Amino acid sequence: MEHVSEIELERFLDGTLPFVKKEFVKLHLMGCPGCRRQLEKMCEERKEFERMAVVIRKLEEADRRSAQVTRQTVASVFKTSTNLNE
Ligand SMILES: [Zn+2]
Repeated sequence: MEHVSEIELERFLDGTLPFVKKEFVKLHLMGCPGCRRQLEKMCEERKEFERMAVVIRKLEEADRRSAQVTRQTVASVFKTSTNLNE
């Protein structure tokens, strides 16, 4: 069985796949737990990225003058906000 490529899953999430292809991917996902898991993983990563982007933007706004935003700072704030949300 041919699996859905990561690029196709990307486009499936973006809604940029042609209709026929989209239906094919949908059908495949129904019958393939492996590709479903891959899609879920990509969704999770996206959520993380969006959240990460929000945190970075907030940090940049608040810290524009002393702007020494290290990756570690971002990571710790990110962790904190994740915990608060859950
Ligand atoms: Zn598959």
